[in-house]
Amino acid sequence: VAPVLSGAGTREQNLWAPRAWLAAGWANDVLLRIGEDGCWREVTIGVAAPPADAVLLSGPVLPGLVDAHSHAFQRAFAGLAERREAGHGHDDFWSWRERMYTVAQRITPEQLRAVAAHLFVELLEAGYTQVCEFHYLQHGPDGVAYQDDPLTLAWALADAAEEAGIGLTLLPVLYERAGFDAPGLRVEQRRFALDADATWRACARIRAAGRERVDAGLAIHSLRAAAPASIERLQRLAEGFDGPIHIHVAEQTREVEESLAATGLRPVEWLASRPGLLDSRWQLVHATHVTPTEVDAVAAAAAGVVICPSTEANLGDGVTDLARWLVAGEGRVALSIGSDSNVTRSVREELRWLEYGQRLARRQRAVAAGAGPGAPDASTAERLWQRVVSGGARAAGFGAAGIVPGARADLLVVDPLDSSLRGMPASNLLDALVFSSPGAPWRGVLVGGRWVLRDGAHARRAAIAARFEAAMAALWSAG
Ligand SMILES: [Zn+2]
Repeated sequence: VAPVLSGAGTREQNLWAPRAWLAAGWANDVLLRIGEDGCWREVTIGVAAPPADAVLLSGPVLPGLVDAHSHAFQRAFAGLAERREAGHGHDDFWSWRERMYTVAQRITPEQLRAVAAHLFVELLEAGYTQVCEFHYLQHGPDGVAYQDDPLTLAWALADAAEEAGIGLTLLPVLYERAGFDAPGLRVEQRRFALDADATWRACARIRAAGRERVDAGLAIHSLRAAAPASIERLQRLAEGFDGPIHIHVAEQTREVEESLAATGLRPVEWLASRPGLLDSRWQLVHATHVTPTEVDAVAAAAAGVVICPSTEANLGDGVTDLARWLVAGEGRVALSIGSDSNVTRSVREELRWLEYGQRLARRQRAVAAGAGPGAPDASTAERLWQRVVSGGARAAGFGAAGIVPGARADLLVVDPLDSSLRGMPASNLLDALVFSSPGAPWRGVLVGGRWVLRDGAHARRAAIAARFEAAMAALWSAG
C-alpha cells in the first residue's frame, strides 16, 4: 500500500491573511498568490476585499523557519542521556558522544526512516518547514557500504521527509579520522567513513534524483575528522557548486586546544586562513568558542553561522557571542538555528535560549534587540526571527527567503485563540510567541503551497508515531 504522502494534496492558489510578516515587518490585508512551481508568485498588501477564489486564513501568518542543523538518528536518544555515567567524575560532550554512538552503531535503514519521519512531523508542528540533515551515518553496522545502494540511509531520510511533508537539504559528510593526529576512524565510527570524492558523488546523486523538496549540499564533519588535504580536495571538487557547505566548528574548548596544538591556529582562524576557502556558501555550525577577530573574518568572507542553543545547553558546550555575530559585517552574517541532537524540537525554545544564554552570561536584557543595524525599534523576537529567516534560507541553499515572490510558498498560520496570545497587542505578537508561549500555536503549516498541518493536526501523525514507538522498542530492547 503506497503511503498517503503529507503535503501531496492539491496546491493552493490564492491565500489571504489579515496580517503577514514580510521582509519589512508586519503588513495588513495581504493577498498571496502561489505559482505552478509551489513558490510565491505575487505578494500584495492592503487588499481589503479579497477575491472570491482566495482562501481566507484565520490568523496572522509568518514565514516557516529552516532547521539548519539536525542529526535525525539522535532523536532516538533524546531524554536517554540525563544521568551521570558510572565512573565519570563529570559528564560532558565527550561522554555523551560515547553513548550516542550506541544508537549510531545499531540503527537500521527502516528504523532510521521511522525515527526521522516522527522527528520531521515534530519539526513541522514546531514551525520548521525545511531541515538540513548533517548526514554522516552512511554504511551498514559492519562499516561496509550497503550493497544495493550506498545511499540507502540517505534515501531513508528523503523518504521520511517526503512522508512527513517537510523540505530537506541533505548534507553528506566528509568524515575520515578520529582526531587531529589519528590515522583513521575508531571502530565505533566505521559507519561514518566517507572521503572527499565519495562525499561529492553522494551530493551529486541526491541532486540528480530530482526529488520534490529534496536538495543536497556538502558537509565536513569537523577539522578534527578531516585532513587538510581532503578539505582541499573537496574545495576543488566544489568549484562552481551552488549549494551550501556545512562544518561543525569550535563547539568545544577541547577542540580549540587540539586545533592549536595540531595547527597553531584556532579552528575558525584556520578556516579563515585558507586561501579562497570560506565564502557565502559556508555555514559554520556552533562557532561557540570564537574571538572577535574570528567573527570579523567570518563576516568578511560572507559565510554564515548556525547556532544550536538547546543542544549546546544540553551538552554544556558554552555560549557564543551573539551580539558580535549580529553586528559583524554590518549585520549581514547569515545567522540560523538548528535542533542538532533533537533533544528538543521547538523553534521558540531555540530562539529563547539564543537570547537567554546571553542574558544570563551578561546580566542584561534584550541583547538581540539592541544589536545590529536595521529597524532600530525592532524587538528581541522580531530581530531574531528576521535574521534566522534569511540566514536559514542561506543554510538550506534557497535563492530567496521569507514571504517574497520567488521563495517557496511556506508559511505558518498563527492560532489567534492560543491562550498566550489572547489580549496581546498586534505589535507584540512575535515577542509573545517566542517568550511567552509554551505550546505550538500554529493552526496551519504550508510547505510548497500545500498544507501539511491543518487545524493544528498532521494527517499522518498517529501512524508515524506508532512506527517510531516500534523502532524505539527494537533499538532499546537490547539494553
Ligand atoms: Zn551536529
